[in-house]
Amino acid sequence: MKNGITIDWEDWFHICEVDHLLPRHEWDSYPSILPEATKNILAFLAARRIRATFFILGYCARRHPDLVESIARAGHEIAYHTDNHQLLYSHGPQDFQEDLQRGTTLLAELCDRQIHGFRAPQWSLNRKTPWAIDLLIKNNFRYDSSHAPMPIIGDPAFPEVVHGLKGSEGTGSIWEFPPLVLNLAGLKVPAGGGWGLRTWPISLIIRKVRALNRAGSPATFFLHPVDFTGHRYDRSLPLVKRAVLTYGLRRPLRSLTHLMDHLEFTSLSECLERLEER
Ligand SMILES: [Zn+2]
Repeated sequence: MKNGITIDWEDWFHICEVDHLLPRHEWDSYPSILPEATKNILAFLAARRIRATFFILGYCARRHPDLVESIARAGHEIAYHTDNHQLLYSHGPQDFQEDLQRGTTLLAELCDRQIHGFRAPQWSLNRKTPWAIDLLIKNNFRYDSSHAPMPIIGDPAFPEVVHGLKGSEGTGSIWEFPPLVLNLAGLKVPAGGGWGLRTWPISLIIRKVRALNRAGSPATFFLHPVDFTGHRYDRSLPLVKRAVLTYGLRRPLRSLTHLMDHLEFTSLSECLERLEER
């Protein structure tokens, strides 16, 4: 079974809950890592003939339309990651509907294709946003990848396998691709990206992926452009944020390369096609 590889295509300053340190009105003045990171990501994937899903931030697409076009031209799936990287529950349904319309129109114009996949910033599509699934269905999304089966940012009770999510009555349903987690001594922790992928032994991660695959589900990995540049954060972020963002930042490419020797990867849309064929 092939597993899902995704990139949250955003810049180093798109960090939730630190708006006071990295305010929106200053973003245009920050140097972007996306030209270098995108070149590295595309080369990394091309060398392994892997098609991936890029969850594109609207702000970044407006700042670097040529890069989005190059990602689409390289055959990768273009999906959506909101316009300005705000937590979904910091806005209401009306804002989210306008955000989805703006983003899908922009990305469809850039790439000449329909957008079917969504991921919320910091997994913020959850029990606090019961209206969000209905709006994704209404806007023709086929899948979401935001339900983190983890404490604090999600819910440990969320399923770990790919599954269907029903909208409210009569609206239909959508697929959910939860991020890969490990269950360590009763605590669920991220494993498919971020500090988890940089921390846990690769053998543990591979064992978990194989268990999911045996259960009929692909695993979902989630990477970021900073993983491909070794960018150092030079702002005084809160200690926990800094630790989560920077611990082991030299390691993800080594971990990924190792994973790719043992597992097969593709985009979430291709995973979905394979699931629907069964
Ligand atoms: Zn993000």
